[in-house]
Amino acid sequence: MNDDSLKKIRAAIRDVPDFPKPGIVFKDITPLLAQPEAMSLALDAIEEKVDGVRIDKVIGIDARGFIFGAAIADRLKAGFIPLRKKGKLPYRSHEVSYALEYGEATIEIHEDAVSEGENVYLVDDLLATGGTAAAAIHLIEKLKGNLVASAFLIELTFLKGREQLGTTAPVHSIISY
Ligand code: AMP
Repeated sequence: MNDDSLKKIRAAIRDVPDFPKPGIVFKDITPLLAQPEAMSLALDAIEEKVDGVRIDKVIGIDARGFIFGAAIADRLKAGFIPLRKKGKLPYRSHEVSYALEYGEATIEIHEDAVSEGENVYLVDDLLATGGTAAAAIHLIEKLKGNLVASAFLIELTFLKGREQLGTTAPVHSIISY
């Protein structure tokens, strides 16, 4: 991905200070979603990180990870698996609790969402403290999926989230702050 394209993606992400609470600068991706060229470039960047590798399942994290994950799954001709906040999945699920940059949460995955040995690509909009992604990776490991890589459109590098992920699989981010 060239610098010009990365600049277009970066320009489509809006900073919202003090949301959802004082001191947090929220990275708002809704302008990017509303601009087809910027969104398409963002998807290109996430897609090319697993170029040439067969992906069976793309896992997207509730809720913004669904937008990118589902679009990437379609491009890769892979299945899409939603990783959801507690209480939303209808079928038997595994769960894990974790700390967020702002609060605490529990996420769940259907117990039959990934089969043993399937190649999995984890996709989310943003890597902050890494708690969410670490929980997601924990659930993928529980189902014995083969995590090929993780990708985040945005990485807040000062929070050192990638150090929390506890995986040897590559961790990619497209735009970092
Ligand atoms: P974390 O578990 O701290 O890595 O937080 C990651 C999740 O929280 C992602 O799914 C993001 O959607 C959301 N998130 C955390 N911090 C921010 C932020 N500063 N701006 C936008 N979203 C955030």
